[in-house]
Amino acid sequence: MSFWEGETCEYCGGPIVGRHVSLHRKIKRRYVLIEHVPAGVCKKCGTRYFTANVLKTVEESIHGRRPAEREVLVPVYAL
Ligand SMILES: [Zn+2]
Repeated sequence: MSFWEGETCEYCGGPIVGRHVSLHRKIKRRYVLIEHVPAGVCKKCGTRYFTANVLKTVEESIHGRRPAEREVLVPVYAL
């Protein structure tokens, strides 16, 4: 049974299903990609929900308290 089983979206009332998603964050001038983040995703509107524990781990990751799995270069274009 999923953590999100029976939960509904607070915006549209759609059902929420458990998924793994990728998050992009910009920290100072670096882009950080966090992969395989457990989330609840609304099947109707796509709104993502995260538990407090997951958000804490994400924050710890992007502030360098956990070692990165790997680093990739992100090309940035500006006009
Ligand atoms: Zn929704």
